[in-house]
Amino acid sequence: MTYKLYKNIDESNAGLTEKDANENGANITVSINEKYKERSNVYSNVDTFFHESFIHAENNAQDYLDNKKFDYSNLGLTDKQRAEVLNRPGQYHHKKVADDYLKYQNNSSNLWPIEAYRGLVEANNILHTNYTQMYIFKRMWNYVGGLNVEP
Ligand SMILES: [Zn+2]
Repeated sequence: MTYKLYKNIDESNAGLTEKDANENGANITVSINEKYKERSNVYSNVDTFFHESFIHAENNAQDYLDNKKFDYSNLGLTDKQRAEVLNRPGQYHHKKVADDYLKYQNNSSNLWPIEAYRGLVEANNILHTNYTQMYIFKRMWNYVGGLNVEP
């Protein structure tokens, strides 16, 4: 697993998770875009880091581990069908964690949302960003295919 800071990718992307499998195994690379246009503070980097790691890298790792291939085999048919309309394979992961949250709330085996939420609350404390816990939780789901979580 590799982490990178990107400086000059498209400024509309906050981050990116890439994967690649070969005879030696698999590598997953998470990149955080420093030039993201909505980047307002350090917390926003941390937010992207958790999104890429706990949604995309985690789902890529689960996908690879079950049959040593990156073929979305860890996802159910419903996750894929619901993501079809979005027409972006990366968003299969977005739908999976959202669907699982609607079904199981914080009781799924996913790292998202509960493990990520704990880390983000801690980051908010360390950085003195002073966001409320509800804001942090709502913001976690503010992505394409995400959820409008009400207090
Ligand atoms: Zn994403």
